[in-house]
Amino acid sequence: VFQLSVPLNFLGSVYREMRQSLLDMETLFNLQKVNVAVKEPENPKPLLLSKGEIKFENVTFGYHPDRPILKNLNLTIPGGKKVAIVGPSGCGKSTILRLLFRFYDVQSGRILVDGQDIRDVSLESLRKSIGVVPQDTPLFNNTIEHNIRYGNLQATEEQVHEAATRARIDEIIRSFPDGYQTMVGERGMMISGGEKQRLAVSRLLLKDPPLLFFDEATSALDTHTEQSLLSNINGILREKKRTSVFVAHRLRTVYDSDCIIVLRAGSVAESGTHSQLIDTNGVYSQLWSAQETLLLDDEEAAEEEQRE
Ligand code: ATP
Repeated sequence: VFQLSVPLNFLGSVYREMRQSLLDMETLFNLQKVNVAVKEPENPKPLLLSKGEIKFENVTFGYHPDRPILKNLNLTIPGGKKVAIVGPSGCGKSTILRLLFRFYDVQSGRILVDGQDIRDVSLESLRKSIGVVPQDTPLFNNTIEHNIRYGNLQATEEQVHEAATRARIDEIIRSFPDGYQTMVGERGMMISGGEKQRLAVSRLLLKDPPLLFFDEATSALDTHTEQSLLSNINGILREKKRTSVFVAHRLRTVYDSDCIIVLRAGSVAESGTHSQLIDTNGVYSQLWSAQETLLLDDEEAAEEEQRE
């Protein structure tokens, strides 16, 4: 009996783990209200990554075919570089990410990763290569440790703690009564938006994928914490030469990118480095001046408050 129960126990735990990750995937998809109708190719090949270059060629896409969101969009995200995508609300920034993940397929044009059309590679290999910190991160009804380890189920406790430290949340977690064993999610302890975002960053750092996306990933943090988290993330990205894309509203968080792509009405309005775009004196430069003026006003108001 003993001899038999060992492999059965083992199978049981594999089954439980598989079931848990299926549930987790469902939670992710439900919470992000994502359409999972794309088809696996007939002869799926695994995605082969070299530099990590992402290319959108003449991409047109709309959630409703008669209302295009992206129009003949051409853009290149060079391998190993940090690229920012900025632009007004609703111009299609998150849509770019959903298309790359193949939650939807393009209506015309193609998306290439290291020269391979993403419709020709297996969905699993594609999605395994991309990591995202979405605008609103779903948390599972489980411990904080599980929520971070979801990025890499094989990670040791030490690696989980290291990822949290790099995401500037380790100290906060340790201050909770149950530390890393604190239950979160709908039925667990309420945590703030900024803490949630940092858990999502920890999860992504632990997953350590070749292509990383940050979709307004630090928007709920105060400026000081945001700057310190971003400088940690930048250090890791540079050290590992990862391709990364930052979708952002606040230009101060991305002005140091290797390339900034400004989207407007579904196409690229202009692109370049911060100083090139300032020299161009176009949309970016106007947006930058407007945001800086607001920030300076805020800083002056804060100083005045301190004096009173
Ligand atoms: P924000 O900066 O506000 O996050 P965004 O640039 O990321 O905006 P997207 O989320 O890509 O914009 O949305 C682009 C457009 O597509 C918007 O008009 C939005 O209303 C629409 N849209 C987004 N998701 C869907 C969907 N599932 N079904 C129909 N329309 C959608």
